[in-house]
Amino acid sequence: MSYEKLELLIGGEWSAGTSGKTEPVINPATEEVLAEVPHASADDLDRALEASLDGFKVWRGKTAVERQAIMEGAAQLMTERKEEMARTLTQEMGKPLAEARIEMDFVIAATRWYGEEGKRAYGRIVPPRLPGARQMVMKEPVGPATAFVAWNFPGTNVIRKVAGALAAGCSIVIKPSEETPGTGVAIARCFHDAGAPPGVVNVVFGVPDDVSRHLLGSPIPKKVSFTGSVPVGKHLQKLAADTMKRCTMELGGHAPVMVFDDADVDKAIDLTIGHKYRNAGQVCISPTRFYVQENVYNQFVDGFTERSKALNVGNGMEDGTQMGPLIAARRLDVMEQFVSDARDHGAQITTGGERVGNNGYFYAPTVMKDVPDDAIIMREEPFGPLAPMASFKTFDELVERANSLDFGLASYAFTADGGRAKKLSEAIDTGLVGVNNVMVATPETPFGGVNESGYGSEGGIEGLDAFLRTKFVTELDV
Ligand code: NAD
Repeated sequence: MSYEKLELLIGGEWSAGTSGKTEPVINPATEEVLAEVPHASADDLDRALEASLDGFKVWRGKTAVERQAIMEGAAQLMTERKEEMARTLTQEMGKPLAEARIEMDFVIAATRWYGEEGKRAYGRIVPPRLPGARQMVMKEPVGPATAFVAWNFPGTNVIRKVAGALAAGCSIVIKPSEETPGTGVAIARCFHDAGAPPGVVNVVFGVPDDVSRHLLGSPIPKKVSFTGSVPVGKHLQKLAADTMKRCTMELGGHAPVMVFDDADVDKAIDLTIGHKYRNAGQVCISPTRFYVQENVYNQFVDGFTERSKALNVGNGMEDGTQMGPLIAARRLDVMEQFVSDARDHGAQITTGGERVGNNGYFYAPTVMKDVPDDAIIMREEPFGPLAPMASFKTFDELVERANSLDFGLASYAFTADGGRAKKLSEAIDTGLVGVNNVMVATPETPFGGVNESGYGSEGGIEGLDAFLRTKFVTELDV
């Protein structure tokens, strides 16, 4: 089965780099080695940094219309290559092919949206205090950027950084995850083949901590954008501080789902079930804590359990698969720990709670009833197909429990009462709120968290702004 050829892209040239080191990429559904991903040497990383500086000088000199034309060319190549890119994505990450195709649609749409939005990096003219003065607020690209992204969306995570940077006029050195390198390489190939000048898009791999220390230790990148876990985000922000790089931190979450007794319970199950098991729950905005009002609690738990049991778990490349494996064996161990701790805290496992088979990293869709707030799963991000549930009585109690963690990424509410929906969306401490809706990520809307879930949005005009800096220019006639 075809899989992307893995190479580094430095200064417009594809190569295996000079370190001679590689690591295997494992298909999580079969545990087979798909390919070896080359590691960049320190010298390769230095060349990538220099190339990004050269690329930046060329790219920022182009007009937004010229940049958009190249980005549109890349989007067209992605469209032509969509099926093979989706197959690479499923093989390396495990998600069902249908989900990989949807992810590719997002990648293409985001490339197009950002390309167009780059034409609207408007500044403004401010009325002067001094007669005859002109006061101009200008938007400029922030400079060469660098980015590190996690394995859970090998396409989406990469394109949000690359397209945002390029639309703003920045170059980028990106390190996709070594566990899912093929999709990022394939995306970079589209930009390269569409005529992005050398050094505008650079792709490197290696030992994550070595690569990020090296790139963030350099004064060349002026911006770092990261998608991944909270501890790694904090670590990278500290590394970025020495050279005062601007940061965008898209970190983990622990999204409460709040179902009130006036909600359409079947519809709430319908929407949240797909959202919960999408990507086997390995999504930062995955619904991870279900609080259901006591009158409809059993109805919700029973319905969710039945639907969870019916899911077809298997290799994402096979027709009919609705949920694939976890990314790696280490995640199976984490699932076991969450479940056994919940059991110890008195929770009832209504379905799942165990590994599926012994080849591939499959874990059963798992529903847990009556999970107390002090169980580990109610406090730490599960990042897997686990749905812990608990009942609540009152609005105020719910808000307090929902806001009790340091995370603040997504939250979901189901209610027929418009006034309550408004009150809740104001009271809830998250960057994304879905009311009777779970679709909180689109190319044209801002995506990002608050508190320990990070800061700085991707997508929307905010996502472009993340790669722009502001300059104030005032002129007096001589
Ligand atoms: P992890 O924190 O070890 O790694 C997450 C990602 O960060 C990986 O792709 C890894 O390559 C990268 N990374 C790790 N150390 C790095 C460093 N020093 N410099 C640059 N990149 C680095 O966690 P994991 O076991 O792979 O995944 C599980 C946890 O990660 C989950 O609990 C979840 O919180 C988090 N996660 C979050 C997202 C998200 O979209 N916010 C995505 C993936 C993983």
